[in-house]
Parts: sequence; C-alpha cells; structure tokens
Amino acid sequence: MAGTADRFDPTDLVALGVGLDAVELEMQQRARDFVEAHVLDELATWYADEMLPRELARALGAAGLLGLDVPGYGPEVGPVAVGLVMLELEAADSGVRSLASVHSSLAMHAVSRFASEEEQARWLPGMSSGDVLGCFALTEPDAGSDPRSMRTRARRSGSDWVLDGEKRWVTNGGIADVAVVWAVADEQIRGFLVPLDARGAEVRPINGRLSLRASVSSELALDGCRIPAGHALPGAVGLRAALTCLDEARYGIAWGAMGAARTCFAAALDHALARRQFGKQLAAFQLTQAKLATMAVELEKGLLLAHHLGLSKRAGRLRPEQVSVGKVGNVRAALEIARIARTVLGAEGITLGRAVMRHMTNLEAVLTYEGTEEVHLLAIGRALTGLDAFA
Ligand SMILES: Cc1cc2nc3c(=O)[nH]c(=O)nc-3n(C[C@H](O)[C@H](O)[C@H](O)COP(=O)(O)OP(=O)(O)OC[C@H]3O[C@@H](n4cnc5c(N)ncnc54)[C@H](O)[C@@H]3O)c2cc1C
Repeated sequence: MAGTADRFDPTDLVALGVGLDAVELEMQQRARDFVEAHVLDELATWYADEMLPRELARALGAAGLLGLDVPGYGPEVGPVAVGLVMLELEAADSGVRSLASVHSSLAMHAVSRFASEEEQARWLPGMSSGDVLGCFALTEPDAGSDPRSMRTRARRSGSDWVLDGEKRWVTNGGIADVAVVWAVADEQIRGFLVPLDARGAEVRPINGRLSLRASVSSELALDGCRIPAGHALPGAVGLRAALTCLDEARYGIAWGAMGAARTCFAAALDHALARRQFGKQLAAFQLTQAKLATMAVELEKGLLLAHHLGLSKRAGRLRPEQVSVGKVGNVRAALEIARIARTVLGAEGITLGRAVMRHMTNLEAVLTYEGTEEVHLLAIGRALTGLDAFA
C-alpha cells in the first residue's frame, strides 16, 4: 500500500498515501490481495507457457477490478484508484495489467462510450463480471503507428455489415469473446463489435514472444465476416474515437509501469541487503547505494507524475499530450530501473525466479504498444511546437 507519513516504506519514499483517500487505498489493497491470491504463484508457469488463463478475467471481475473507469458499470472509484489498481497488477506482471486494461479501458470503454444503449445493456454487465472478455483490434500487419493506412474494410449488405481484413497483435484475442474492430467504411474509420465466434472471424495465436509472455497475443482474420447492423458503434466514427480509448489505457500504463519498476527496485534492495561480497553487504558499497538511490528517485518521480495525471483526469483536464508524457516518461523510467536492478542482482538477475528480467523484457513491449516511444515523443513535440512531424 502507498505509504503514509508515519510509516517508512523504501519503495514509496515520498509517501504517496498522504495524498490518497480511503477508497483509493482500499482499491489498491484489493488489487494487491488479488495478485497474491490469484497471480503470483502461477506467473512463472503462465510465462513459460506463453499464456494467461481465461478464468483470470472472471476472477478479476469477481474481485470488482474490471470496468472501474466505465460509468454505470463499476463502483466509480475515480481515476487515481483505477491507476493504483493498474500499478498493483503490473507489479505482478505487465501481461496481467494488459489483460485488464485492454478489456476495461479499450473494449469496455469503446462500448460504453460509442455503442447504442441497447448494445451497452447487452454487453457491459457480462464484461463487468468478466464473463464476457473483450479485446481491441486496431493494428494490422501493414498498419501499426499509422492506423490511417489500415486495409480492413466494412461494407453494408442489406441491414448487416460485412468485414474483410487482417488484424494483428490483438491482446486477449485467443481467449476473448468479442473484439472492438476498427475498419474503413464509407471512407471513414469506424468501430464495430465483432463476436469472435462469428462466421468469417478466425483468431490465430502469435507465439514465440520474448516479451509479455504471460499474455495472449493474436491475429484476427476477417473473411466476409457478417455482423448485424446494431454491432456498428454509432459514436465510433473517425480515428479520434479509437484514440480516445487508447488515451484511457495509456493513462493506466503510466501507473502500471511504476508497478513493474517498484518490484524491480524492491528485488534489488532486498538482494543488496542480503548478499555479501568483499566481507560486507552489497548495500554498504557507495556505488550500490547510488544505484538504489537513483532507482528510488526515478520511481518516486514516476509515481508522483502518475498521481498528478490522475488528479488532472479527475478534474476533467487531462490532455492527450499529458498522457503521452506519463506513458513515455514512466515506461522509460521503469526500463531504466529494471536495467539497474538487474545489475544489482548480478547473475541472479537474469533468472525467471527473480522477476527483474521478466519485467525488463515486458517493458520493451509496453514501450512499443499503445503508441511507440517515438510516436509519443512526436505527440509531445507537436504540442510544444505546434508543428506536426508525424508524416
Ligand atoms: C505485446 C503487444 C500487444 C499489443 N496489443 C495490441 C492490441 O491489443 N490491439 C492493437 O490494435 N494493437 C496492439 N499492439 C500493436 C501495437 O500497438 C503496435 O505494435 C504499435 O502501434 C507499433 O506498431 P508496429 O509494431 O507496426 O511498428 P511500426 O509502426 O512499424 O514502427 C516501427 C518503428 O518505427 C517508428 N516509427 C513509425 N513511424 C514513425 C514516425 N513517423 N517517425 C519516427 N519513427 C516512426 C516506430 O516508433 C517504431 O520504432 C500490441 C503490440 C504488442 C507488441
């Protein structure tokens, strides 16, 4: 739990808890308890097998940890509590946080914001409980940072829509029930709800990943996939709609990355205190203390930045370029912390059992997805200069 002023916690030097309310602290503890009960013992197996079990989504739903940022379908705990939940899930593994944030911030958010009331009532209760798992299919084999170049098409056929195209890197795809698919219809990018058991929808695994292994990554082939008219999301017209969902998830990443960083820092601190070389603890060497202090400073800065973004979001004043500052800044900081922590652990640092290398490789994917490092720097550069250097 985030520290309070009267309790020293080396992983929370500035005592973030001083600025948190009771609901936020309760949600953080709930996520931490969830991770202990449902995740930590299984992680090494999931990582080795390159999977996450479908049941994890139901367990997250039963714990009340899904759809927290979706009005009307969660306890509406506020953005700081949402962020703290992401922090605790990613302190376990970025893959676990990805399952939750793709489902809640991308899929549920798209339904709650852009679907008709009838479709919302149809999908959101099940998504809230985790009985219906969602995913988000924007990226294609030839359209990553530049989603406007997507080739997936949707055309009308009577009152139905028919989708053709190829999506790639769909997190949760192989265990999900429904995908929010982005396709060009009438020369505009639009969002559609595609049940993954629909005829003409085929999900295939992407295996052999060296990052985010405790996760499900998929391709989605759409070949004459017919869906009823109501599955088009009436409000999801234009790329901005997809980017709105991504902003929600990127906010969560700004917090989550600091969870991964906290775990790496804690592992380094424990090891430095326990391990002796040259007749004393590693932690007693000045060079090691410099590493520990550097990691602590970066961790605290990242937590404070995430908290500040949460306060701005609560006030309805969070701007996309500020989310970019949080996403790119905190993922970079987390990677740096993971790399320093790895050196403190020496050879042990490369083992799966110590978690640091697992987090480090995970963070490489987190740096790339939901807008690469370069794309977020370009977004910040555009805000700073008024000049668009994307293309
Ligand atoms: C584990 C994982 C999970 C993912 N989950 C999802 C998901 O659930 N749904 C989904 O839709 N997508 C998902 N993605 C895809 C992810 O969003 C894309 O990988 C990302 O947008 C980058 O696209 P790309 O990989 O095609 O790289 P590219 O766009 O080909 O970029 C390659 C490199 O070129 C750089 N580059 C590109 N354009 C510019 C430019 N204008 N200026 C300077 N540099 C540039 C990039 O920054 C990058 O360094 C996931 C990816 C991963 C790895």
